[in-house]
Amino acid sequence: MNCFMCKGDLIDKKVNYMVDLENTIIIIKNVPAKVCKQCGEQYFDNDTTEKLDKMVNKLKKLALEVTIVNYDEKVA
Ligand SMILES: [Zn+2]
Repeated sequence: MNCFMCKGDLIDKKVNYMVDLENTIIIIKNVPAKVCKQCGEQYFDNDTTEKLDKMVNKLKKLALEVTIVNYDEKVA
């Protein structure tokens, strides 16, 4: 698999995923991703995307100004 933007090589990496919402900023750390060596574009697989969506949905209900969690943490 190569980068859709620049066709560069993708490497496995843990990245920080950040969502900037109206009332809150959510940062999820250590998310497994494929990152382009050339342009830095990040790709998440379907499972990861789904889990990130669920985490963001739960976390945004907390309505904290900034929420920082680890990807591996279970979010109740
Ligand atoms: Zn690229």
